[in-house]
Amino acid sequence: MTRGRLVVHAHFYQPMRVDPFTGELPPDPTAAPYRDWNERITAECYRPNAAQGSLAHASWDLGPTLSHYLADAAPDVLAGFVEADRRGGGRDAGPGIAQAFHHSILPFAPRHDRRTEIRWGLRDFEVRFGRPAAAIWFPETAIDLATLRVAAEAGVRGTVLAPWQADTAHLDRRAYRVDLGEGRHIAVAFYDGDLSSSVSFDASLTSDAHAFARERIAPRLSAPLADGTAPTIVIASDGELYGHHQHFRDLFLRALVDPAPGSPDRGFDVVTLASLLAEPANRPHPEIRIRERTSWSCHHGVLRWGAECPDVPDGRWKAPLRGALDRLSGAIDAVTEAFAAELPGLDDVWHARNGYVDVILGLVGADDYAAACLGPHSTADDRQRLATILEAQRWRLAMFASDGWYWDDPTRPETAQNLLAAARAVRMVDGLSGTRLEMRLLADLSVMRSPAMGIDGSTIYRHALAEVGQPPPQC
Ligand SMILES: [Zn+2]
Repeated sequence: MTRGRLVVHAHFYQPMRVDPFTGELPPDPTAAPYRDWNERITAECYRPNAAQGSLAHASWDLGPTLSHYLADAAPDVLAGFVEADRRGGGRDAGPGIAQAFHHSILPFAPRHDRRTEIRWGLRDFEVRFGRPAAAIWFPETAIDLATLRVAAEAGVRGTVLAPWQADTAHLDRRAYRVDLGEGRHIAVAFYDGDLSSSVSFDASLTSDAHAFARERIAPRLSAPLADGTAPTIVIASDGELYGHHQHFRDLFLRALVDPAPGSPDRGFDVVTLASLLAEPANRPHPEIRIRERTSWSCHHGVLRWGAECPDVPDGRWKAPLRGALDRLSGAIDAVTEAFAAELPGLDDVWHARNGYVDVILGLVGADDYAAACLGPHSTADDRQRLATILEAQRWRLAMFASDGWYWDDPTRPETAQNLLAAARAVRMVDGLSGTRLEMRLLADLSVMRSPAMGIDGSTIYRHALAEVGQPPPQC
């Protein structure tokens, strides 16, 4: 038997906090003494972890909404992630993996949205890190077979899931493969639930990385699997744990994944998630089935982001919010397709949307991108109309960020952020097409109510607009 292996995966993510109307990040006094939460968490977590070199040994995904922030506000920190990825294993085994772009719950999304979110996430990774990603993090690890299939079609070879997302209670410490039909499959690593929750929630167990490795990890890696191969343990958690949620936990991470030279042999090696997921040519991973529509932070499937579940005291606002935004996105899509049909030279507006991430990444201007989609004889007016509808689509995708449904109450800033994205999208579309979708959105939002404040969703929407200085809806 070869030596046992350990993977430590950190999910780094911040929701988008920019004002969708201006692109500016407003200051947030609750993050004092820092300007805003992104700046504070960068100082407490991202910068020290990048500086200490841990990220070349740990595995991680860096969400696109966070990498955009870092690129603008802390380019030295983003450079640290890029350098760690380069040092940490090369093209197929590096520590970095992609993340779906807007952190939306993909099993709720229509198929073309799943495709765009995954392709944008892969493209963001490729542009930032200079190589394609071998694997992807699904937001909240929320998956179903259709989502896995869309990812595999986009070239994704693997992911990491919670142990209860497997359709069996008897998991070996190894990677598996999930059959996706028509000869397609995807590799899946299930993290160790016990060790991962110790790292996340038990500060006393993780004050000493050497003791944790000796007492908790090494004994679980001492015996080979039934087929004689070496076992691998995967620990997965939020990356912000390492320094932000828990001070000094960044030092624990460093000692766990990169012990100081000369320290005693622990009997196992630290490897990347990507190298665990890579299938040896002559030995496919064993097959496993997954439980449909499951996730890592709700034990009730994916109910936390669209219905009532025991994770929050009163989740009656969640289904109407999702319904309102689903109806809005369906209406925006109908307008989008009607517009696209009248744009000469445009083959497929959804294909155009998949490529629009290059505009968001600043690789190409919106007018040049529209020109590339419409061909050499396009008019300035048609290019403008296509650019507007694609920008509206961008915000219509952003309004589904999972954070808006995660917490107890829709008066929180995360839900306001989704509503502002919805406002940005709907106002662009109404302005372009003369529709009155914003009025319908208000009517749909008015049926949900904040448990904490008692106000309805249309009032929450108006407050969110007033907060960023936008005019109220025109009734
Ligand atoms: Zn739940």
